Parts: sequence; C-alpha cells; structure tokens
Amino acid sequence: MDTDMKPTQIPLCVPEIRGREWEFIKDCLDTNWVSSVGPYVDRFEIELARFVGSRWAVATCSGTAALHIALLAAGIQPEEEVLVPALSFVAPANAVRYVGAFPVFMDVDPEFWQLDPDKVAEFIEGSCRWVDGKLWDKHTRRVIGAILPVHILGHPVDMDPIIEVANKYELKVIEDATESLGARYRDRTVGTLGDIACFSFNGNKIITTGGGGMVVGNRERHRERAHYLSTQAKDDPIEFLHKEIGFNYRLPNILAAMGIAQLESINDYITAKRGIADRYNRGLGNVPGVKLPSEAKWARSVFWMYTILIDESRFGCSSRSLLERLAQKGIQTRPLWHPLNQMPPYEHCHSYRVEVTPEIYRKALSLPCSVGLTHENQDRVISEIRTLLS
Ligand SMILES: *Cc1c(COP(=O)(O)O)cnc(C)c1O
Repeated sequence: MDTDMKPTQIPLCVPEIRGREWEFIKDCLDTNWVSSVGPYVDRFEIELARFVGSRWAVATCSGTAALHIALLAAGIQPEEEVLVPALSFVAPANAVRYVGAFPVFMDVDPEFWQLDPDKVAEFIEGSCRWVDGKLWDKHTRRVIGAILPVHILGHPVDMDPIIEVANKYELKVIEDATESLGARYRDRTVGTLGDIACFSFNGNKIITTGGGGMVVGNRERHRERAHYLSTQAKDDPIEFLHKEIGFNYRLPNILAAMGIAQLESINDYITAKRGIADRYNRGLGNVPGVKLPSEAKWARSVFWMYTILIDESRFGCSSRSLLERLAQKGIQTRPLWHPLNQMPPYEHCHSYRVEVTPEIYRKALSLPCSVGLTHENQDRVISEIRTLLS
C-alpha cells in the first residue's frame, strides 16, 4: 500500500540503451578484444569524425582526458593562460591546470548563457598587450595561449567573433563540446569551429559509453600528438622506448563498442531532446518568474540539459526551494555549476568582469530531460511546477 502511494521517481538525465549495445559488447567478450586496441575503437573514431565533420578523431577514456590531451596537442605551455568561461563544469579549468597553465575566467552572456564574445574581445583589447608576437595579460604578466569556449547545455557559443579575435592575436581555440555533440553553429557542427575540440561520453551526456571521450580536429600534426600522448608516448612497442612522458588515456574497445551502438541512435536522441525542450517551452511558457532557455537564430541546440531560470520575487520561491519541493514529489532537478572563479582552487586566478554568471547560477535549475522521458512524466513535472506557483 505504502509503496503504491509513492510517486515514481523521475531522474534528471539517464542513459538510453535501445540499440545494438548488447550485440557489440558481446562481440568484444566473445572475441577477447576488450582492451585499449581493437576494431571498435578504430570504427568509433572514424564514425564520430564523420558525424562531426572533422578529419580525424582520437578516442580517450574520458572527456576530461580529451581536454588534457587537446591542450597538450595544441601546444599550451606551463605558465601560459587560457580564457575559460566562469559558468561551466569544472573539467576544462582543471585540464588547464594539468598542463601547468592558468585559467582566466570570463563571463557569459545573459541571453544564451555562453562565453560572452564581447567581453572576451574587450578583455583582450583593453587588458592585454601585444609584444614580440605574444599577447600578455597586463594584470598577471603571463602570456595568453588559447581561448577555451565551452558550449554549455547543448547550445553553441557565438564562435565567429571569438575566432576573429583569436586569429588576430594568434591564440589557439580549443572547443569543449562535451555537452553539445550534434549541435550546430550557423552551417557548421560544433567541434569543427576551432583548432581542436573535445567530446565526452560520460553517463549523462548526449551519447554514453559509461565513460569516455574524444579529441577531434583537422590538422594531422595534432592527431599524431593526441594519439601519441594518450597511448603512453610509446615510441617503440617492442623495446618499451618512451621519449616523452605520456598518459594511459585510451578508450577500451568494449566501451567503444557501446559508443558505436549509441552513435547509431544519435539523431533520434537529438530529436527526442528537442521534442522535450519544445514540450517544456509550451508547458511553462506563461509561468510568471520562469525564464525559458533561448536558442539563438544562428544556433541549433541539442538541449542536452533543459534549464530554466527562476526569478524568486515573481515565481514566489527560489530555484533551490523549487529543487527541494520537486524532490519531495520524486522529481530530480539540479542547479548549474558553482561559478568557477569562486571555488577554492580557482579563487586566486584572474577573472575579468564575471557579472552575469553568479546571477544565472543563483536562478538556474535543470529539469528532467532523459531521452526516454515519457510525456506522462514530463507533464507531471510541468504540473508540479505550475501547482507550486499557485
Ligand atoms: C562532462 C563534461 C566534461 C568532462 O567529461 P568527462 O567525460 O566526465 O570527463 C568536460 N567539460 C564539460 C563542460 C562537461 O560537462
């Protein structure tokens, strides 16, 4: 009786397994090709590169490892600086520290919540100095090596102005596209816009391998470095000769097998994600104090995480009390990430006019948006939110 009365739990975002995952993984087990070399790794790299539209892809054991390798392959040096948005999951900032460089935190725009190209340009033109073919941060006296835009929540960053300023000052552009596989910026796919880009196949990403990542790019030199450094910098496989310090970052074949099965469904997943966003937009569109996520004219978002902003004074409660009240009804929601420039490892790093990020952090709440979310469950989320309002 008691259990009958408990509402079913609606999780925030869980994987969708409905394709040939079992078949391909079983094939790995049957053939003993379970580890970091194997036909599925090669195939996953080829097929992901084809899907994204990049020349090459190198599989890694996580998206964070992909970021680390991308920064190394792009040649980012210790003591250099990399521009990173303050509103992001922590991984890109950590990866910058892994190579001994330092993040400089930039703000996001109030409309799409992505790295703000105007503030990036303003910072570079106003707070940096171009001397001897290098861009110096006047405040820290360090050289700026790259811009690392993060396409958050499935929506692309406005990349053209960022690439323009990066070209002018010879900065690398490393895309963190881990949340936005399949998203489009103008007529191009996210992950093909900068010098090198990263994807993640963690459990809650657009497609999953349990854990995994990919570095993608167009330059052969970058591919060689990414492959070499992620396979222990092995120079001679028989004599165990290593001329550099490498990393054991390769993706196991058994996980790549799952990735191929997931990739076969990606267009259906994206359609489902966009459908969920549509349905929330219609169901919550006229709720006072709720701001819906916007999609830019130049963007096709994959709506990886459907996120709304709650204006406490108009809605009647804060994003955090809405989180608690929905949790009591069995509905899992989640705020966005604590602003990176305010966290202990990063509070002493340079940040430039981070003004919009804290407000979005305070107001944001992500709603259940699994690919497999049923209409019935989604309607329950919508009606619980509307009930709380009244
Ligand atoms: C998920 C994520 C990553 C890292 O991916 P893992 O595969 O979990 O290591 C990096 N950056 C952002 C913005 C992410 O959301």
